[in-house]
Amino acid sequence: MRSRFYVAHTLLIISAVVLMMSLGSCTGRTKKGKGSDTIALAPAPKFVADSAMSYIIAQCNFGPRVPGSAAHKACGDWIISKFQEFGAEVREQRTELRGYDGELMPCRNISASMNADLTDRILFTAHWDSRAWADNDRVAANHHKPVMAANDGASGVAVMLEIARLLMTKGLACGVDFVCFDLEDQGTPQWAEDETIDVELSDEGDYWCLGSRYWAETAYATGYTARYAINLDMVGGRGARFEMEGFSVHYATPLVNMVWHLADQLGYGEFFIQHKSGYVTDDHVPLNQLARIPAIDIVPHHSNGRSNFGPTWHTINDTPEAIDPAVLKAVGQTLLQLIYNDN
Ligand SMILES: [Zn+2]
Repeated sequence: MRSRFYVAHTLLIISAVVLMMSLGSCTGRTKKGKGSDTIALAPAPKFVADSAMSYIIAQCNFGPRVPGSAAHKACGDWIISKFQEFGAEVREQRTELRGYDGELMPCRNISASMNADLTDRILFTAHWDSRAWADNDRVAANHHKPVMAANDGASGVAVMLEIARLLMTKGLACGVDFVCFDLEDQGTPQWAEDETIDVELSDEGDYWCLGSRYWAETAYATGYTARYAINLDMVGGRGARFEMEGFSVHYATPLVNMVWHLADQLGYGEFFIQHKSGYVTDDHVPLNQLARIPAIDIVPHHSNGRSNFGPTWHTINDTPEAIDPAVLKAVGQTLLQLIYNDN
C-alpha cells in the first residue's frame, strides 16, 4: 500500500446525530443515548488481544507469505481451516495477475461468510500477502529480502479471525463476511523506480491492491453487495494512531464518524484520532470504486520517521516483536461493538 499526496489536515467536527441518521442498522439498536453525542452500547464480548496475537505469530511461523511461496500456500490453508473452525463458509477465488515486472503472480483471495444465506451483509477485509521486498529498510542490503509482515498483513487477518471466533456462537441478524485479499502489497519496489526511467515502471499505484481489484470487479459483476465494508491494514503496530483516511471520508463519512466515535466512547480515543489525514491507496479503494460498497480503511498515520505507516513498514523489522496487543484490542473491540450494536 502506498500513501498519496498528503493533504493539509482538517479537523472534522463529529455530529453524532447526523451519523445515527445516516448509518442504517438491522435492528435500529444504534441510537442516541443519554447525551446527544452518546451511542447506546449493546452488550458485546471481550476481544482477546492475546488470541489475536497468537494468530499473528501463527501466520509468521510459516515465514513471509510471498505469493507463490510454500509459506504462502501453507498459511492460506491455515487461514481457511481457522475460519472453518469458527463456523464460517469459506470460498476461494484463484487467478493469476500481472505484477510490475510483467510476470504473472498467483492470486488467492479467501472469503469466509457467517450467515451466508442472509442478503443484509457487512464486510471486513484485510490483505494476507507479505511484501516480497523490504524496500524501505534502512539497510540497502535488505531491500530484496521479503517482509515478515506481522503488522502489514498478519495483523488485519488476526483481528478478523478473533472477531470470527467470538461471533461463532452468536445468532446474527446480519450476514458477516471476512475477505482476505491476496496481492495487495506487491507494488513496484522503490529500487525498481530508482533504477529505471521507464514510464511503464513508474508507479501510479497500478500494481498495488491487485487481489482486491479482481475481487471487487467480480463481486460487482455477480451482484454481491454489503451495507458497508471496513478494511484493516497494519492494525497492530506499536505507536499506531488511526486518523480518518481521505478516501474513507470521501466515500463513507457516516461510517468513519461512527467507528471513530464508538472507539472514543469505548476509551480508545488515544488510538483513533478524530482528524482527517491524507489519501492512502489501499484495498478499500476498489471496494468503493469497483464493488460500489461504502468502504473505509483503518490504517495508521505516523507523523514522524521514515514512513507515514510506521517505523517497520516494508522493513525486515515488521515482526511480532513490534506488535502492541493494546492496539489490536482497540481496533478489535471497536469493531465488535459496531457489529453487536447492529445485531
Ligand atoms: Zn505494505
